Amino acid sequence: MARFSFAILVFILCTASAEAQRERCGTPEPTPTGAGVVPSDCGYWTNSPQPQYEPSCYYDVQVVFHVIQSNSGAGFLSAGTIQDQIDILNEDFQAIPGSPGAPGTDSRIRFHLATTDPSGNPTTGITYSNNNNWFQDSGSYWNSLAWDTNRYLNIYTNEVPCCYGYVSDFPSQGIAGQADDRVVLWWEAVGRQATSGWPGNMGRTATHEVGHYMGLYHTFCGGCGSAAACDSTGDLICDTNPQANPNYGCASSETSCGSSDPYHNYMDYTDDVCLWEFTPEQVNRMRCTLTYWRPDLYEVCSSDLGTNFCTSVANSSGSPATISVSGQASILANDMTLSAASSAIQTVGLFFYGANQVQVPFGDGFRCVGGMLFRLPPPLSSDTSGAVQRALDFTQSPLSSGPGEIQPGSTWNFQYWFRDPFGTGGAGFNLSDGLSINFFP
Ligand SMILES: [Zn+2]
Repeated sequence: MARFSFAILVFILCTASAEAQRERCGTPEPTPTGAGVVPSDCGYWTNSPQPQYEPSCYYDVQVVFHVIQSNSGAGFLSAGTIQDQIDILNEDFQAIPGSPGAPGTDSRIRFHLATTDPSGNPTTGITYSNNNNWFQDSGSYWNSLAWDTNRYLNIYTNEVPCCYGYVSDFPSQGIAGQADDRVVLWWEAVGRQATSGWPGNMGRTATHEVGHYMGLYHTFCGGCGSAAACDSTGDLICDTNPQANPNYGCASSETSCGSSDPYHNYMDYTDDVCLWEFTPEQVNRMRCTLTYWRPDLYEVCSSDLGTNFCTSVANSSGSPATISVSGQASILANDMTLSAASSAIQTVGLFFYGANQVQVPFGDGFRCVGGMLFRLPPPLSSDTSGAVQRALDFTQSPLSSGPGEIQPGSTWNFQYWFRDPFGTGGAGFNLSDGLSINFFP
């Protein structure tokens, strides 16, 4: 009986009363008896914001938009409108300066329209279909339309009679990989000049629903909750003030539970023009959710892992040596490994780094790194193909202290030097090209 009463209470607290004709959100509220599938740092009824989920390098998410139209073509969205919506997601999730989302928190989560479909073929990342039933959000259209929901964020647009948008369930319930894992948006609330008009005219419905898709609850979920247990009551987030009920419109102030409501938060129900932030802890929970519940959805740091520069000259093995990197450009993650390929075979070499980029003749090639140079001992020996690897440990000198200390936000340039006793040059050594890496927390 107590559980039943609590369920009713949560239902009342979490479910907005209708002010607008169309509800802001049709996402099912978490239920007190829902347990989630396994424990995690971002579970169904708990949250534990650990430092490894702080925004560091980018998580790149591939998106497919399924535009569902009526048989007569209602619900059409152009590729330009959909790209606008992708841009809005990026502005809001990355708090891009100069954009409406600038006041928020940079989650370092990026969204891209998919460029390859599940079969590996080129795609625009947009599908179009005509079906009157599907257009009313009826029928299991996802069984026909979904792309691998482990790998793609599937967004559907149709008439969604219930609301501006919804997600089918929360990731901690194991929805990832199911065909019905999805974000659904009212087609008129999509894009920068959405035709729905007030209050959903700036494309923030997608921001809100993708927040759910990444494990966030409404800021008013569970009502005031308990300040002493802010990680297991209310919205599970400690840096959003407790909130009794959803806010609509865009007032100059809203208070409940003895404090100001987080009515500028994307997870409230205020007008699009009034929404401009996720909090740091919400961002932490979203990145945790990707790590735990949607591990195949994103590529880690794919485009941040260094930019090659400078020239490498052929060595005795015949090919110019090249440098590359794997892992994350994250000090906290501490899992970066440098690699060199096509150096002289079974010979001694050393990685080094410095702050500046140069290109000066040196040995049989060019030195690409300038300024004060820092060696990464010990000397390494290449294998029979001339390949060599070295893991970086950001807790060890010189990476961790002194003038060579690598701090978050800094950029450093790396290169590989190696003995080349078989070379035709007189100096007997050569170098790879250079690699510039931006480092994150
Ligand atoms: Zn919602």
